[in-house]
Amino acid sequence: MACNLLSLFPKVLTISLYCYTSAIVIYYVSYNNVIIPIIIITILVIALYTYLLVIYVGPGSPLDHKPLIIKNLANAEIGLEEPPSFMTLKNYTLKSDGRLRLCRSCFVWKPDRTHHCSNCNRCFLRMDHHCPWFASCIGFKNQKFFIQFLEYTTLYSIIICAITSNFLYHWFKQENYENEDINLQVVFVWLLAIVTSISMIAFTWYSIYLVVNNMTIIESSALRAHREELEILHDSGHPDPMLASRAVNIFDLGSKRRNWDSVMGSTWMEWLFPITTYRQRSSIANGSYDDQGLYFPVDKKLKRDIQLQNRLLTRLTPRSSMDV
Ligand SMILES: [Zn+2]
Ligand SMILES: [Zn+2]
Repeated sequence: MACNLLSLFPKVLTISLYCYTSAIVIYYVSYNNVIIPIIIITILVIALYTYLLVIYVGPGSPLDHKPLIIKNLANAEIGLEEPPSFMTLKNYTLKSDGRLRLCRSCFVWKPDRTHHCSNCNRCFLRMDHHCPWFASCIGFKNQKFFIQFLEYTTLYSIIICAITSNFLYHWFKQENYENEDINLQVVFVWLLAIVTSISMIAFTWYSIYLVVNNMTIIESSALRAHREELEILHDSGHPDPMLASRAVNIFDLGSKRRNWDSVMGSTWMEWLFPITTYRQRSSIANGSYDDQGLYFPVDKKLKRDIQLQNRLLTRLTPRSSMDV
């Protein structure tokens, strides 16, 4: 119950802030101009729709895919229960013992880029981060809507900031301080819009940067840590070849456009509107495992990388020979 209330709070706050700021600007600032309310309400509707879609669609979990559910954890740990063949063939991330990853809390095989969220107590596909503003995780299925929500919220904040700045500028220009009080609600919305615009521009820019580099927040911080470790080992004259192989992003498709398309879809309609990408929809319709967040293409250049080849060889080694 307390947990439900806690997760309800950010949702009520976000929706209230949107509705309150719109109402203030439309009521006090737009005068008889019809264009301002139309612009504000259009962005408000689309932003709130993407916000609710992030929560409703969810990040996607390996638990939603029956073949990934482990029947006997002890057997899976020692290799007597095998993961489904699409994982053995198309997943690259292994544990230190050379086996594919699994989650002991969820009793599920963990495809590449899957992580367990301690807040939600569940594994999520291509997990990006747990977002307190949604009281939900951002992952494979809802990341596109999350990026769109950030973009629309940035646009909304900048527009509200510009309209209220213009209103306050004219109020000060009139120099009619004694006869007319300043509207404190507009001042509050103006301050809120400034703070939100600055923080949203920074976070949206960072999120887009990660998408065009095909990295999640988790992968970005892991990569940074690996590179720092590698530098320290390199300086000490003992570089670790395994660490070197981990200090590259194997999921980078080699072009910013391809990385962007893999999350956001490949047409401007898919980039702009909160619709599931064509690739995901056709994959679901065909009952295919492709484009479901269960495996990801790896850059051809990196496939040739000698360290990765070693990892592929480890992966392809039959389980029986590893048990010896
Ligand atoms: Zn888990
Ligand atoms: Zn979470």
